[in-house]
Amino acid sequence: MFDVVISGAGPSGCKCAETLANAGFKVALIEKNKDWRKPCGGAVSSRIFKYFPQLRKLNFHEINGASMYSSDGNRIDYSWKDIRETSINVDRQEFDNIIREIAVDSGAELYDKNIAFDFINKDGKRYGIKTKVSGEIKEYLAPITIVADGMSSKLAIRLNPKNKWRIKETYQAKCAIMEGDITIDKTKISMFFQSYKGYGWIFPLKDNQFNVGCGTCNEDNLKYNQNEIFHNFLKNPITKKILTARNYKTRWLGSYSMPGQGVRESVLYDDNTMVIGDAAGFVSPISGEGIHPSVVSGEIAAKTAINALQDENFGKSCLKAYKFHPNIKKIIRNFKLKRSMVDFFFEEDGKQLNNMFQLAFEDKQYKEQAIDMFLFNKPLSKEFLLKLKSN
Ligand SMILES: Cc1cc2nc3c(=O)[nH]c(=O)nc-3n(C[C@H](O)[C@H](O)[C@H](O)COP(=O)(O)OP(=O)(O)OC[C@H]3O[C@@H](n4cnc5c(N)ncnc54)[C@H](O)[C@@H]3O)c2cc1C
Repeated sequence: MFDVVISGAGPSGCKCAETLANAGFKVALIEKNKDWRKPCGGAVSSRIFKYFPQLRKLNFHEINGASMYSSDGNRIDYSWKDIRETSINVDRQEFDNIIREIAVDSGAELYDKNIAFDFINKDGKRYGIKTKVSGEIKEYLAPITIVADGMSSKLAIRLNPKNKWRIKETYQAKCAIMEGDITIDKTKISMFFQSYKGYGWIFPLKDNQFNVGCGTCNEDNLKYNQNEIFHNFLKNPITKKILTARNYKTRWLGSYSMPGQGVRESVLYDDNTMVIGDAAGFVSPISGEGIHPSVVSGEIAAKTAINALQDENFGKSCLKAYKFHPNIKKIIRNFKLKRSMVDFFFEEDGKQLNNMFQLAFEDKQYKEQAIDMFLFNKPLSKEFLLKLKSN
């Protein structure tokens, strides 16, 4: 019997569990498998340090800039050294286990190797979750359940079958951690836009390793084969100039999907439940950045649950405060705008995206705006948009 049960110990679930445990509540954090490495680029903006200040002291690979390549050959470089705080690139297995430890140190109880598959229904209400552990069924009871188990969440579908992500609503990506020399500045991340909806990346890591990947989104998921575009990305002339070694060791390889439409508002809260992170679509539709927004959603859901526990009111009239929190509303608005930008940029095989790169290449102010939009979640100015449309 717990105050809150959280299904999924990724970034959103861990932050949520830590916040509740720090406030003195009894939290069960249920995880399918903590040895799993979530397929991810692992680029984490410095905004994460507000939520996990402990990460500042750890030895993650530091990033102070970005290079972005357009599909027609323009490249913009930007350094935020001494302007913004350093970002980090992480190995997700290491990162996730560190934030799990932070939650456990705060008092959350982590239950590994538990596959959540359904809610417990009691007196017509959801009252915790059922999991499978080595063939046996376990029950974790609580008046509030928080669904944080990512794209493949079974519980989100139990809430409503319409919550299953359709392929056109997602990003599909394949990535690898490789080892060997690369010719780019290792304090910068590199992103390579394509004529299809999606992009490729090379994100340097410590120990002479790097994360390389690429993916498609929306209807282009149906037109392209992930293995083929990954193979072609590694072999294309721009990538070849960076990956010049004869042999790279592939340390790990994986494919996964992420939401590509922004926040699914209808799933966020119901009686006794809230949905956070990828399971609710907290991923930027333009860059695929999801770690920071998922953590934000986890913290706000935790604070909403704390109020509900104090008032002993677990109904949707109380839990809706999560959806209407100013920071959640801001993310929802921002992602809606980004979603419309994706459609705009990729008209006529990415014509507007190439125009934006051309303007950013010629003008420092536009360059900063383009970087801010992709990496720091800021919208483009009206002036920049008008200029693009008139080009
Ligand atoms: C290929 C790829 C590249 C990406 N690159 C970046 C990037 O560079 N930067 C960035 O910010 N974002 C990136 N993202 C997005 C980012 O990975 C997610 O937005 C983020 O991990 C969401 O956190 P979460 O806690 O909501 O879900 P997840 O990280 O998916 O965590 C869900 C957790 O739930 C567990 N789980 C799943 N099912 C069950 C179950 N039935 N029972 C119990 N536990 C379960 C999983 O094991 C996992 O630990 C990328 C995503 C992909 C797919």
